[in-house]
Amino acid sequence: MHDVVLIPGDGIGPEITSAMRRVVEATGVGINWNVQEAGAGVIDEYGTPLPDHVLDAVRATGVAIKGPITTPVGTGFRSVNVALRRAFDLYACVRPCVSQPGDGSRYENVDLVIVRENTEDLYAGIEYDRGSEGASRLAEVIAASGQGPVREDAAISIKPISEAGSRRIVTYAFEYARANGRKKVTAVHKANIMKATDGLFLRVAREVAAGYPDIEFNDKIVDATCMGLVMNPDDFDVLVLPNLYGDIVSDLCAGLVGGLGMAPGANIGEQGAIFEATHGSAPDIAGKDIANPTAEILSAAMMLDHLGEHEAAGRIRAAVRATLAAGEKVTGDVRRALTGTAEGCVGTQAFADAVIEHL
Ligand code: ATP
Repeated sequence: MHDVVLIPGDGIGPEITSAMRRVVEATGVGINWNVQEAGAGVIDEYGTPLPDHVLDAVRATGVAIKGPITTPVGTGFRSVNVALRRAFDLYACVRPCVSQPGDGSRYENVDLVIVRENTEDLYAGIEYDRGSEGASRLAEVIAASGQGPVREDAAISIKPISEAGSRRIVTYAFEYARANGRKKVTAVHKANIMKATDGLFLRVAREVAAGYPDIEFNDKIVDATCMGLVMNPDDFDVLVLPNLYGDIVSDLCAGLVGGLGMAPGANIGEQGAIFEATHGSAPDIAGKDIANPTAEILSAAMMLDHLGEHEAAGRIRAAVRATLAAGEKVTGDVRRALTGTAEGCVGTQAFADAVIEHL
């Protein structure tokens, strides 16, 4: 029996996590689900979207799977998704993007893995509003150092990239490559422009790479990477990126394998692992039983691998693949990509039923 915290989230979260849970239960793996609510819906009761008891539950199990949680705009609360990753120092975000027959994409043989740094970069949340004291003091420091000038009406976001943070994420990428039979790691950066931050990331990546002679290494500027991914995704294997590029390139890669509804993910650190789809809460389609639960179901397969349940994880992947390949019971996003119209699609739960039939 495995103890797992389940955070349904909001938007399409409750629908896709319930579909995911049914599929996992159908494999017969014993999971003791500890369901915890977080997000805007609990602010009135607890004064925060991420109550301490949720953090305590995740701390106790070390393993959680969650649905997406909307970041409330203009309330002063920062992203719960980012806060959770930070609370447990889940520094590695792993997002495999693998083609499946019938996924509705323009590509057939995409098989790559994004390893995104999760704790630093412009996502660190160090920001100064236009007109704030912090912004004007920073502008003074910048002017005094001979750089700038920064305009008086500028807001400023800070991009910290550390040697230690870069070393551990690049090391993670190489260890992942080795453990999963991958051949190449590409470090993605913009070191020609951001010589201090991305330059440090690249220098450390080259140092780490020297310790893995069995794995090929190269580096690529982020803009060229985007074009390369669209033109020749076969050129890529494992990509390691700082936080913001990792966020953007993840969505691009999701598009290579059928869209956001297809792309699973894991946030991993020394203190635990939280599994979640790459996509957000998609409020436009919430509550209608039309969201594609594939990304969440494949995130559960990653979780089962993490728990040592490799056979069940493999069965889930094969069942999802078979359901998509059959093409009869697929959600509207896939149907539209395949035929130009969602006509004849099935709902979120019916898709999960079809996956269960293929288990
Ligand atoms: P975030 O910033 O939280 O990542 P986002 O603005 O990128 O969110 P998402 O919520 O990820 O937006 O989704 C963007 C759009 O993609 C949605 O509005 C929805 O139409 C579509 N989408 C996302 N996830 C799914 C899914 N599982 N099934 C079908 N469509 C989806």
